[in-house]
Amino acid sequence: MSRSKSVLTKLLQIFPQLQPQMYFKASLTALSHAMEDQVLAGTEKPLVIASFQRERFYRQEAQRYRRIANKTDQVYVLAAPETEFKNSSQDYETIAFESTNTLSQEWHLIVIGTNYVSCLICQEKVILNNQGITSVIDNNRRFEGIWTFNREVAQQAADILLKIIVNHCPELRSKIQQARQKYLPPDILNQIVVRQKTTNNIIHNIENKNPDPFVQRLVTYLQAGHYKLIKANRSLAAKEHKERLINSITTAIRLSLNPDEILQIAVQKLGQGLGICRCLVYRCKETDFKATVEHEFLNQDIPSIKEQTWFLHDNPLFQEVIKLQEALTIDNAANDPRITNSCKEKEKSLQTLVRNCSILSWMLAPILYQGQLLGMLELHHCGPKPISWKEEDVTFINAITTQIGVALIQAEAYAHLQDLNEQLEALDYTRSNLVAITGHELRTPLSTIQVCLESLTLEPDMSPDLRQVMLNIALQDAERMRKLIQDFLILSRFESGRFEWNTEVLNLHECLELSLSNIKARYRGKQIPLIEVTNFLNSELPLVKADREWLGEVLAKLLDNACKFTSKEGRITIIVIRNSLHYLKVTIADTGRGIEPKRLETVFERFYQEEGALRRSIGGTGLGLAICRQIVQGWGGKIWAESKGKEYGSQFHFTVPIHLS
Ligand code: ADP
Repeated sequence: MSRSKSVLTKLLQIFPQLQPQMYFKASLTALSHAMEDQVLAGTEKPLVIASFQRERFYRQEAQRYRRIANKTDQVYVLAAPETEFKNSSQDYETIAFESTNTLSQEWHLIVIGTNYVSCLICQEKVILNNQGITSVIDNNRRFEGIWTFNREVAQQAADILLKIIVNHCPELRSKIQQARQKYLPPDILNQIVVRQKTTNNIIHNIENKNPDPFVQRLVTYLQAGHYKLIKANRSLAAKEHKERLINSITTAIRLSLNPDEILQIAVQKLGQGLGICRCLVYRCKETDFKATVEHEFLNQDIPSIKEQTWFLHDNPLFQEVIKLQEALTIDNAANDPRITNSCKEKEKSLQTLVRNCSILSWMLAPILYQGQLLGMLELHHCGPKPISWKEEDVTFINAITTQIGVALIQAEAYAHLQDLNEQLEALDYTRSNLVAITGHELRTPLSTIQVCLESLTLEPDMSPDLRQVMLNIALQDAERMRKLIQDFLILSRFESGRFEWNTEVLNLHECLELSLSNIKARYRGKQIPLIEVTNFLNSELPLVKADREWLGEVLAKLLDNACKFTSKEGRITIIVIRNSLHYLKVTIADTGRGIEPKRLETVFERFYQEEGALRRSIGGTGLGLAICRQIVQGWGGKIWAESKGKEYGSQFHFTVPIHLS
């Protein structure tokens, strides 16, 4: 058998006035069963010709055909074999055709008895899905064809099919001849052909012989019911697709604790899943003026806008989303008043943005966590036609942004946890350092004190001068221990966050004067370098905002270090300048022993002392600069050291916030 015209086409050529209808597979199954049941329930011995597209469809009905064959010996079943189906003459005739045959796209059932006739001649309508592939075989398959009780039409259809059967199985010629004589009297067929040849205007009262209106209506109901079912199925499938997408995005983003990775996975999966032209995400806060587009998914041929600056403060849509706290949709950017009314001239105008990014339909969805804006997700459809966003689209995107929000917060919490861990580790390090310091730094002065006091007790004859020396040594070492313990307690309070800030508006000049007089008092009787205060006393410097006690502590520690590490011939200079709009910079520079450039950061570490605590002759705990850094960072400033190296002196700088009235 070769590819030729379908039975329906041939029939319509003979009866051009017949009007094919659309049938779902489910309707055809019901009709076919009804026609077969009529044979099974009746007493006639009709001619039955059934043509199945594939063996598997026939297999579902084989049992019925065996029963039909008990009623009549004129039963012909055609199908494209898949396993065992072949030409054979057992209970009834089976005729196998190639799967490439036109019949494999057709569905026929003809029943011709003496008192009744029914005929179903259909062919499948091939529906291409959006990927250009024919739809899968299921109940939604559609056929077009004719269902009639008209004897002439049925006989003509039977004639066409019997010819096909004879062509394929010549051995059936005589049996088919008998069928023709009994069910298709030659005069009737001739009459039709003659009538067709003689007039173009064939007027048969075919409609009158068609299924009665009641039956017709039942079929229509069946069809309508099935149509609704298809629609419901489609919307269920769409919902399922979206739910799967939400699940896959949620699973993927929860696997990462890296915010950038989370956002990239989200745009990628969402963009692919929705098949949208452009999907982007950027992180932002409600008060931000602008944001950079950090994560983007693009469909083919859509220009990228990654790394572009997105204006937020001047963008009325962004502001609207913030106000609404939910997604905003624009079906057609070309005629949305919020866009068309935006000022054309402005570079940041929405019109420019829409044009530059070829946006036609737009959705902006906020990524929120407990009402706090973490970022924005945007979907851009770039044409050719606008799309109208549906409520379910918004609900779906809201579900996605909620998941992104949770994942971001989770990542943030993890980062905090890591910070906390680091802090704990640092505390642990401090603690073990204290143990080490206690071992070395405390035990040494303690032993000295003990020796001195023992000598004083056991040697009552000791000269008054020596007694004084002993007492001085004991006192000095007691003071060293006190300082170490005090510094350590201060640092622990800062690091554990258990300290109170008493921020006041201060005159830096006064604070500095006080520190200078304190340091001079401390070093009274000892020779210290010359301390100069430049450009400060006369200049009009603004007031600062800081804690008086802690600012004094920073100045005292830096001045003390400068004195300790600079010889008496050297010089210490204090310079204060306005560093920026918001900060003053204080510099304490000395001409002392200097710091190796690679140690400029290390000096701020706890317990760092260049020569090690044990070899220390000038005292100190190694905690001073670490405490200074905690204090300065506490008011939002910075502290750092500069030095050209050993013997080139050092400069310590720190910043203090200006009081802006
Ligand atoms: P310390 O109590 O030992 O002075 P600090 O934390 O104040 O502890 O200082 C840490 C180390 O930084 C000092 O031991 C010293 O080696 C170095 N240092 C601090 N200030 C100066 C300075 N002005 N010149 C040279 N080295 C300094």
